[in-house]
Amino acid sequence: MHLQQITSRLHFARTKHANWTIYRGPDGLVLLDSGYLGQRAELEESLGRVGRSPGDVDAVLVTHAHADHLGGASWLADEYGVPVFGGEREVPHLRREFLEQVGPPDVLRNAFRPGVLAWAVEILPLLRGQPGLAVPSARAVPDCGGRVDVPGRPAAVAASGHTTGSTMFHFEGEGAVVVGDALVTGHRTSRRSGPQLLLPMFHADTETARRSLVHLAALDAEVLLPGHGQSWAGKPADAVARALVA
Ligand SMILES: [Zn+2]
Repeated sequence: MHLQQITSRLHFARTKHANWTIYRGPDGLVLLDSGYLGQRAELEESLGRVGRSPGDVDAVLVTHAHADHLGGASWLADEYGVPVFGGEREVPHLRREFLEQVGPPDVLRNAFRPGVLAWAVEILPLLRGQPGLAVPSARAVPDCGGRVDVPGRPAAVAASGHTTGSTMFHFEGEGAVVVGDALVTGHRTSRRSGPQLLLPMFHADTETARRSLVHLAALDAEVLLPGHGQSWAGKPADAVARALVA
């Protein structure tokens, strides 16, 4: 786990398989995405590195309901009663009323692609036997004048496509956007680094995912914090332009 301080309040935890972001401000502590179930030790370590513990988390905002973003949210909700929020259209997915996630048949069909089989073998133990884990208590992000009513008050920006209800979180005051997997800068199944889209097998609807990037391009920020790969310093519009030609 590599922890990067982005601003005085935002900390970006990057791991081999999934990233998350910690907002720690005078108004409270918010986790954005939360890694796999099997990454609990890394998640606890990241909180410890900013001087906090799991019981201090006021809320988890989840960009989307995939197992590599939802694991920590699941045990924080179960053991500490931490509220878990997602975009309105992602809530039924967080509760697992349906599942839009890559499965063994997709992996097999894509096994010829570099890195896909190795990735699948590596993440298997991190799933802890629960690839479809649910957070039944998940709710839609509480709105307060167009901002999410949690510490840090980010704006929720819809980014449908990776999953139907994928959502980005824009911390205007910090100049940063937590983009989830709407756009990434690297992945175990990619040989490139820099802004890019994940392989089509990971998206519920790749064309919609590409079109949704217009919402990211319109944001004013200096840094993007993706679900996979390194943080990216630059304007969102530049990152989107690079991802669409990549
Ligand atoms: Zn992901």
